[in-house]
Amino acid sequence: MSNYNYEALLDNLYAKLPKKNTFTGERFECPIVEVLNQGSKTIVKNFENACSKLRRKPEEVSKFLFKELAVPGELQQGGRLLLHGKFRDKQVNEKLNLYCKTQVLCSQCGKPDTHLQSTGERHGKVLKCEACGAVNPVRE
Ligand SMILES: [Zn+2]
Repeated sequence: MSNYNYEALLDNLYAKLPKKNTFTGERFECPIVEVLNQGSKTIVKNFENACSKLRRKPEEVSKFLFKELAVPGELQQGGRLLLHGKFRDKQVNEKLNLYCKTQVLCSQCGKPDTHLQSTGERHGKVLKCEACGAVNPVRE
């Protein structure tokens, strides 16, 4: 038996193996925040950190949370967010998840590589995807 045949056999074998999946995009996970209740107030502990994962300014994300939770609040030192209301972590994370879905993830390709852009109209904003180029209006 010749060496050549053996190699041909190997080549044949490798050709039959399934091709490696080239899809590298891991599913983006919305960050989860830790919540601390202090009397009638709520502190979101790792707020700034969560915002940086979303590539959004804490000011923008907090504005969304104040509106959705219908309470005022303020950004605090140490990357925390103070909410003037009592919320469980599930409630805060639900809203953060909503922000993630509506203002971060591209509705076309599902990637988080997006940025918000003003349309020039009053309250007009679009979500522009850097991965696939899709432009989608954002609900304010
Ligand atoms: Zn996209």
